[in-house]
Amino acid sequence: MLFYGAATGFDRNGLDMLDATHNQTATSWLESANRDDSPFPIQHLPFGRWLRQGQVRAALAIGDRILDLTCVAQATSLPVAGLEQGSLLGLADPSGRQSLRHWLFEQLSQGNSLLASHPDWFDNLEEAVMLLPFEVGDYTDFYASIHHATRVGSMFRPDNPLLPNYRWVPIGYHGRASSLIVSGTPVSRPHGQLKADDLEAPVYGPCKMLDYELELGLWVGQGNALGQTLPLADIRQHWIGVSLLNDWSARDIQRWEYQPLGPFLAKSFATSVSPWVTTQEALAPFVCPAATHEPRPLDYLWDDQDQSAGGLDLELEVCLRSASMEEPRRVSSSNPKDLFWTPGQMLAHHASNGCPMRPGDLIASGTISGEAADSAGCLLELTWQGPGQPRQPVQLSDEERRTFLQTGDEVVLSGWGRRPGYRSIGLGTCRGTIA
Ligand code: CA
Repeated sequence: MLFYGAATGFDRNGLDMLDATHNQTATSWLESANRDDSPFPIQHLPFGRWLRQGQVRAALAIGDRILDLTCVAQATSLPVAGLEQGSLLGLADPSGRQSLRHWLFEQLSQGNSLLASHPDWFDNLEEAVMLLPFEVGDYTDFYASIHHATRVGSMFRPDNPLLPNYRWVPIGYHGRASSLIVSGTPVSRPHGQLKADDLEAPVYGPCKMLDYELELGLWVGQGNALGQTLPLADIRQHWIGVSLLNDWSARDIQRWEYQPLGPFLAKSFATSVSPWVTTQEALAPFVCPAATHEPRPLDYLWDDQDQSAGGLDLELEVCLRSASMEEPRRVSSSNPKDLFWTPGQMLAHHASNGCPMRPGDLIASGTISGEAADSAGCLLELTWQGPGQPRQPVQLSDEERRTFLQTGDEVVLSGWGRRPGYRSIGLGTCRGTIA
């Protein structure tokens, strides 16, 4: 199903955002964007920020090139404000964002020369020094995978793994924005309180059970004022796009500290985020129905459009590479379509008490795990064999196995949207090495 013609804003019928920019056969004058294995074809057009000649600048990824959007904004009139100063906050305006997508699609299409005549506006993508897409004010982490929640719950409460609130409330906690880091930034092993089962008192020392969590990060767009809410029916007006996110977790610190208020220092030492924002418009071919579940969500968490097309169908995977390995090895794959709550439900719930959401805030999905054992989004689950059973390490190579992360290990998250009839797009990678 394809609709051609300029976008006219949102209506509320399923795949309504599909337009000419999703045409599978569209190609760019930039040849590298037309390769089948390119995550950044002309149908994608993800936004980011980078450091160029010491300045923070707005960017677009296309093929194997990075386009300096700040240069473009200074030379032409673009429908999104702030790009000329290197800020992506203007993308919070859905109509401006859509117009910019259409303009860039046209300018990068075969036969157009405005951008092609400015090679100095482009650089090698691989060599670009990327930044977080936004200066994040607030970061929240949800717990939206029922498979993750059930498996982790069964470790602590084998007879009652899922707490009674889980099917009613999108569970989350407030994370720490100050330790959000862009993909590629090394991660220091945290120190904290560790309490062995056979000792009476904890000790302060380096984490011995360091883990990753495969998540999707949702970038908030237009926010709400204090005391106002964000109705689920309008929620697509209020998020910009997604990035990959790794919620590094110190399981031994977490086990001792988490009750009664939830995660604290076990999580706040680092959270890695991939540099590219895949916009809601780019994701339009990859939406899917919300997970069906009982009981029916309360009214403020129910919207027909969100139920029919509020989920995201993306192929995500986790690869690990030890210091001695050449290539990362895939250890699991999963899909956010299996989440119990949609991104929209999480955002609407977050604002449902009148808490202001602000442009550039980051909302993470929680570990994305599927039902199958090999679709677990963290080592805590992946190596779990059941109560009283020893953990089963993951085989990385003939010589190396991992129960938890060791110094020098690199974790690489990646994701693709694939759907017959549409060009595949990649979310890029979210990498981090344990220093
Ligand atoms: Ca998490």
